Amino acid sequence: MANVADTKLYDILGVPPGVSDNELKKAYRKLAKEYHPDKNPNAGDKFKEISFAYEVLSNPEKRELYDRYGEQGLREGSGGSGGMDDIFSHIFGGGLFGFMGNQSRSRNGRRRGEDMMHPLKVSLEDLYNGKTTKLQLSKNVLCSSCNGQGGKSGAVQKCAACRGRGMRIMIRQLAPGMVQQMQSVCSDCNGEGEVINEKDRCKKCEGKKVIKEVKILEVHVDKGMKHGQRITFTGEADQAPGVEPGDIVLLLQEKEHEVFQRDGNDLHMTHKIGLVEALCGFQFTFKHLDARQIVVKYPPGKVIEPGCVRVVRGEGMPQYRNPFEKGDLYIKFDVQFPENNWISPEKLTELEDLLPARPEVPNIISDAEEVDLQEFDTTRGSSGGQRREAYNDSSDEESGHHGPGVQCAHQ
Ligand SMILES: [Zn+2]
Ligand SMILES: [Zn+2]
Repeated sequence: MANVADTKLYDILGVPPGVSDNELKKAYRKLAKEYHPDKNPNAGDKFKEISFAYEVLSNPEKRELYDRYGEQGLREGSGGSGGMDDIFSHIFGGGLFGFMGNQSRSRNGRRRGEDMMHPLKVSLEDLYNGKTTKLQLSKNVLCSSCNGQGGKSGAVQKCAACRGRGMRIMIRQLAPGMVQQMQSVCSDCNGEGEVINEKDRCKKCEGKKVIKEVKILEVHVDKGMKHGQRITFTGEADQAPGVEPGDIVLLLQEKEHEVFQRDGNDLHMTHKIGLVEALCGFQFTFKHLDARQIVVKYPPGKVIEPGCVRVVRGEGMPQYRNPFEKGDLYIKFDVQFPENNWISPEKLTELEDLLPARPEVPNIISDAEEVDLQEFDTTRGSSGGQRREAYNDSSDEESGHHGPGVQCAHQ
């Protein structure tokens, strides 16, 4: 599960992974006819790609290598014959040499095993406070009973089928005058180049050289770590004889939080207040990610406009590796207005006396047209929705405290 599945070869033939052999053959024949150099002299590269894709996918061993390990499986399985490099780099980009240099060979020249990638779900609380957790996983380790030999010393013999090379060479005619030399993994020895007689096989690992072992890793999620960040355990992936083990890589997946949304080191939340609070000051409390109760006060006389954002400095997420420094907390206010007819007409007159004065009465000319202002369902109709967004955007700009990544959410 190290890499996202590589489907390029399937794409070339226009078939989905998992396609049956029959369908594969049909797709290939159709394309090969269409792009055959005799018919279509300018499509030589395309024809080579199609032939190559079919060559791989029609071979059960190669197809399995490709399905499991993608491009890398083919490269390693191929042993890198000269002719292959061209078509490889044509299809996958990058030469065989460059690839070998940076990934599949380790510093000391040994082949390097695959990295094992695991997602690790963490809550925002975990990322705020830090957390140590234990992760149990099963991996291959070299058999201790035979030291990864698979049997007694001397029991291991060179594979006769491939003369110890682990590979067999096949020559195929792709088209008249076009011959391709292909190597494939030897099926007698599974590419290892050696076999062990049944009676000499190690009892513990049955000649497999490795056994499954449960491994418990202690994972430290540090304060301020982020979604998508990797925690690497070097050399902890599957062991195999003659191979330097790859890494176990944990990929942090931040779970959604009910109250807070994170944006880098900043946090965002929405708080509902009533009209009286918006006009006359307020205080409210919330529970922070470290369980502290936070009291937020806003003095009488200061006004909160609907949809505006205010900031609490230093109450965001801790910085990774510098956890005493914290980001900021942005609070967006959703002001709840009273219902229609919430107050008697007499009281309304009293209220009007208290509120700021109306603008001057407009001058209405004799042939002016009077229109009706109606309520409408804001969830219906696309033009209404767009207008609503435009309104929200402008109200955010007025507040001047619009935090990045905050979505306007008027209910
Ligand atoms: Zn063994
Ligand atoms: Zn063999």
